[in-house]
Amino acid sequence: MSSIELEVLNSDDVVVRWQSVVSEVREEYLSETQHFPWIIGFSGGKDSTLVAHAVFEALLSVPPSARNREVHIVSNDTQVESPFVMLHLDEVTSKIRQAAEDLDLPITVARTHPDLDKTFWTLLIGKGYPSPNQSMRWCTDRLKIMPTSGYIKKHISNFGAAIVVLGVRRAESNKRQQTIDAHKNLRASRLNEHSEISGAYIYRPIVDMTTDEVWETLGTFHAPWGGSHGALFKLYRDAEGGECPVVLSKEEAPGCGTSNSRFGCWTCTVVEKDRSLQGYIDSGNHQYRPLVDFRDWLKSIRNDPERRQAVRRNGRLTFDLTGRHIPGPFTIQARKEILEKLLSTQTEFGSKLISDAELDLIHEIWAKDLQQETGAANGL
Ligand code: SF4
Repeated sequence: MSSIELEVLNSDDVVVRWQSVVSEVREEYLSETQHFPWIIGFSGGKDSTLVAHAVFEALLSVPPSARNREVHIVSNDTQVESPFVMLHLDEVTSKIRQAAEDLDLPITVARTHPDLDKTFWTLLIGKGYPSPNQSMRWCTDRLKIMPTSGYIKKHISNFGAAIVVLGVRRAESNKRQQTIDAHKNLRASRLNEHSEISGAYIYRPIVDMTTDEVWETLGTFHAPWGGSHGALFKLYRDAEGGECPVVLSKEEAPGCGTSNSRFGCWTCTVVEKDRSLQGYIDSGNHQYRPLVDFRDWLKSIRNDPERRQAVRRNGRLTFDLTGRHIPGPFTIQARKEILEKLLSTQTEFGSKLISDAELDLIHEIWAKDLQQETGAANGL
């Protein structure tokens, strides 16, 4: 039986298991040894939703005078996120924000974005970076790791350290299991040092839960910020499951843009097919068809030599170890073609896919590149 088809059981086991998770979270929150802020990496998927649920519930059980630790629920918008995931994320985060405010909980709901000069469109259409693939995946670092790490680092510099609360689980994948095992508790506590961000500690409250337990719990209890988790079940059902996890380090990056992480960027050319978007269309959401067509086209032109410059952006010819020439970025002509196609996809889709600020910066980059090309042609 697949997890998404689970019959929702209000079994004693689920209740007992959940009470123990929430009481551990409460205990950790009230730890006397440190009061560093908690930063929950919130993707809107099932695991991070369950972690936010546990923390929210634990906070409600703590007397107001003891709620002395800040909790941040932080989601990242790559700006090319699957639009149906963003819709869900917007809805849930605004409910959490409102409920936290009404209940006077020390929760801040935040959203991070990549810097303007590092967005998918600025790099792909502005600078001509070839669309990402397994061997040249320039996107994860810039679109996901840097914005979230930036938020964490800011709080480390304010407080001396920060605790990153994640919904990662041992049962999720072999890769995750290895990562978790490689960072076993260092200080006889529930916290592990982050492998790349100094001053950050990782706390994984649901690390030992199975996928079925996660779904059973979400199906058994109402969301503490109001309503049920029904929309989440529908999201997974329509998209046939899987989400792009919160990615915080390079060792976890391989999980992004794989068949295990199907809620990624709608532009993702690392995967063979965007199964979640396709699943969404198959579930009757035909408005997403232009996005899938654009992504497929983008993937198909990646290695067309006519659309790639011979030299890299630094002006050098590059060869691999076998002496094979490695083409440079997309030509300006190809970048213009991609932009035209994107704008017509945007019109067909009926919603913004690229921001005005990105368009301005792209035109600035093209002007500089053209100037350089003309200078080089004139021997300047
Ligand atoms: S989902 Fe794909 S495009 Fe987005 S960051 Fe991950 S690998 Fe890159």
